This record gives sequence, C-alpha cells and structure tokens, in this order.
Amino acid sequence: MNFEEKRKKLVNNLKNRDYPVLTKQEVINAMLTVPRHLFVPKDAESSAYIDSPLCIGSGQTISAPHMNAMMCEYLELKEGDKVLEVGTGSGYHAALCAELVAPKGSTNPGHVYTIERHKDLVKKAKINLKETGYGNRVTVILGDGTLGYPEEAPYDKILVTAASPKKIPPPLREQLKDGGILCIPAGSKSFSQDLYIVKKRGEDFDSKRITGVRFVPLIGKYGFES
Ligand code: SAM
Repeated sequence: MNFEEKRKKLVNNLKNRDYPVLTKQEVINAMLTVPRHLFVPKDAESSAYIDSPLCIGSGQTISAPHMNAMMCEYLELKEGDKVLEVGTGSGYHAALCAELVAPKGSTNPGHVYTIERHKDLVKKAKINLKETGYGNRVTVILGDGTLGYPEEAPYDKILVTAASPKKIPPPLREQLKDGGILCIPAGSKSFSQDLYIVKKRGEDFDSKRITGVRFVPLIGKYGFES
C-alpha cells in the first residue's frame, strides 16, 4: 500500500469511529491532502498513517491524527481565518490549518502563525512546511507561545497543542478576537488533562470540556516550569 492509500484508509477509520472525530467534509479533505509521512522522521515514515503520536525529536511528539482532526473540527476553521498555533512541533497541524484557512487558489486566504520553543524543531518544521508547499501560508516563530504573538493579534482562532496548567494563559485570552475560538488541553503536567473549547463573547469566555487527553506539557511563563 502506498502512502496515499494508507492516508485514505486512516481517514476512513477516523470517519467511522464510534466517537465522532472527523465529520466535516473540509476537514476530511485537509486530512486527505496533507502528507503526514513528510512531517515525521524518516525512520517513523512507515508508521505515519497509524492513529498514534510519534516522536519527532527534542523529546516531543506529533499528536495522533484523531486529535488533529478533532481540534480542527472544534475550531470551526474557515477560509480567511487568522490562526495562532502554540506548539509547532513538526508543522503538520499548522499545515492542516493552512489547508482549511488558505486553500490553494483562495481569493480570501487566511494565515497560520505558529510558535515553538525548541530551536531544532523550528528549523525542521520550516523545512517540512516549505517542502510540502505550505511555506507561504504558515509563519513559524521561535519563542514562548504562552505569551502569544502580539505582533499579529488579534486571532480568529487559537490552537494550543501542549497541556497548560490553566485553561487560558492571559496573553492568549487577550489576543483572541471577540467571537473567536480557542482550543486547549489543560490539567496536570503529565496526566489527567482535559481538552477545552473556549469561545470569547465580549468580556466573557464560554468554556466546554470535550474529553480527557494526554499532551506533552506547555512550558513557559504562563505554562509549567521546565
Ligand atoms: N502541533 C504539533 C505537530 O503537528 O507536530 C505537535 C505539538 S507537540 C504535541 C507540542 C509542542 O509544543 C512541542 O513541540 C513543544 O516543544 C511545544 N511547546 C511546549 N511549550 C511551548 C511554549 N511555551 N511555546 C511554544 N511551544 C511550546
């Protein structure tokens, strides 16, 4: 089976799970388009279409595909959105977001800004994104994402892909647009975390718990200590 066939099989499995994680056609198309095997280390390429997290170096992981799909769906990403991702890792999830907010040929393209604290991962993610055709639609920044990225704020959507001790680090709260949506895992440093979807309504934040999850910790000023 080649990579494209494996990708289709994975997407079909995610569509047919008992707990719905992949239902929206645009997210299905993005998952069918972005080549996950080109975002993982060479020796993990053959496992790229298994629904599992994989090591990407610097002690970090690329999340399991069902988690990528679920977060994209809950964020309600649409063409034209300006997105901030905290936790670039391999760049794969940023590419999925770019596929949704700035599809090829769009007359109203959005953009994805993504922050990573590990220099080596920033370097690799930039290469991965360029080689797969997302280099112009995603900007990768080295830094502490718990501070957000005020230079381009406010954002329509904010995606945090590491577990925070608090539901929303204050700078992310401020950098989300009124009416915007934020998706974040929060809880303890190594286990017992929950995924939340938070909607900003004026001064209020409506927060909903989605499910229990397990993410690497968010390390930074408003995250955990390293
Ligand atoms: N979204 C990534 C992908 O598609 O490969 C996977 C993200 S991985 C589960 C979480 C990432 O968050 C790690 O690469 C980690 O280094 C990063 N991270 C943790 N704390 C951070 C912070 N304060 N700012 C930026 N990145 C952070």
